[in-house]
Amino acid sequence: MRHKDKSQLARDWQAQLQRTPVDVRQAVAALVAEHRAALADHFYTTMLDDPHANLFLSNEQVKQRLHPSMQRWLTSLFDVELDALDGLVDHQERVGEIHARVDIPVNLVLGGARHLKQALYREIARGLEDEVTRGHATIHVSDHIDMAMEVMSHAYSVASDRNARTEEAYRLFSLTQSLGSERERQRSALLDWENNLMYAVASRHLDEGLPRLASSEFGLWYHHKAAHAFEGAPEIQRISAAMARIDEQLLLELSSGDNDRQLTGLGDIRDASRSIQLLLNDLLERASGLEAGRDSLTRLLNRKFLPVVLNREIELARRSNKRFAVLMVDIDYFKTINDSHGHEAGDQVLQQMAGLLDRSTRGGDYVFRLGGEEFLIVLVDTDQEGSRLFAERLLQRVRQENFLLSGDTLINLTVSIGLTLHDGHPDQQRTLRRADEALYRAKHAGRDRVEIG
Ligand code: GH3
Ligand code: MG
Ligand code: MG
Repeated sequence: MRHKDKSQLARDWQAQLQRTPVDVRQAVAALVAEHRAALADHFYTTMLDDPHANLFLSNEQVKQRLHPSMQRWLTSLFDVELDALDGLVDHQERVGEIHARVDIPVNLVLGGARHLKQALYREIARGLEDEVTRGHATIHVSDHIDMAMEVMSHAYSVASDRNARTEEAYRLFSLTQSLGSERERQRSALLDWENNLMYAVASRHLDEGLPRLASSEFGLWYHHKAAHAFEGAPEIQRISAAMARIDEQLLLELSSGDNDRQLTGLGDIRDASRSIQLLLNDLLERASGLEAGRDSLTRLLNRKFLPVVLNREIELARRSNKRFAVLMVDIDYFKTINDSHGHEAGDQVLQQMAGLLDRSTRGGDYVFRLGGEEFLIVLVDTDQEGSRLFAERLLQRVRQENFLLSGDTLINLTVSIGLTLHDGHPDQQRTLRRADEALYRAKHAGRDRVEIG
């Protein structure tokens, strides 16, 4: 689906505001400014009454931050200048993206908007004397909040589509074992279709209609699963185009009754089918291979799956009262290893370090390579003391490890660690930021240590 672009949304919004008399906008802005704390209170109390919303809002961290940010949102929404709508659109988009990241159901957001509107209608009825102004003000509040919700939902749906695709890719990735056999199965399904087609042509069963690739076993698998799971991959577009060409163009050649055209058609179909096979091989190779989920150098998890894993752990933590910890691990002075022993030696060190991190963790933990010489561990089912001990022991193991470079050269090195426990806040970026800041402090305090954030 094509969405309106941002400037179009800003223009729509501006047009809507222009229809509202200036004194009405000012009167509403003044009401909002006066009552924003009470409005935020009202929003919060009503939402906490809803058991579903409560799950997202009852966390202490959220409580502390939501109240002031709700007030800021209200103020900036109603106190807007007509030429500043791009900024207002940006603001709503950021909020929508946070909602998507935290996975707040959209009906809760809309419910919240409804409560706010109702509270504002009451303030208007109480605070504005002139009846005509009251009417305009009520419409203005309603339209204006609707517009904010429209922009927010747009950003939300774009972001949550993206999340869903990553989750799907992760699911596929975790099933890599079966992708190998899937590839074989689909290879023979495509050949089956080709054989059926040849048979139909050879036995002159043309009037019964030739088997369409899209309706074959292969076609069904492709349209329902592969095209969806690998959406966005360059091969997908080309495979879809080749399939459409076969079904909509080449099959007609076969039914033409003209021998020459049939022969050319058969050759073209064979070529198209081969190229589908090759493209699919590349695609599945990539998916089942290292690139899709694992970092190609270290075979650790790729950072692109970090959001999926963290969201799942946040969800589990919410339900089970268990906590997880995030450790950012960065090799100290790694650049000097590259500088004095070469990039390949550096690569070997990274591989050995990955092995060490992997061996040091339990089966339920996750080890990611964030990039360069930086790693991230998600330590599940742990607490403050447990995760601190783990980090200290990891420092110790790294100190004791002899890293082998080409030839017989052995070197020793150290890492710095930023450690943080998930505090229950639904936004994973807050946890990541804390770990990152702790790592920064560990570096500045002299490296080879853990700092807790
Ligand atoms: P610090 O203790 O502050 O972390 O110092 P550092 O030298 O480890 O960190 P810095 O960020 O200055 O340098 C990181 C180096 O890692 C620079 C880059 O060339 C190297 N690097 C990044 N990715 C790779 C890789 O895949 N292989 C190799 N061999 N080196 C890499
Ligand atoms: Mg480093
Ligand atoms: Mg680094």
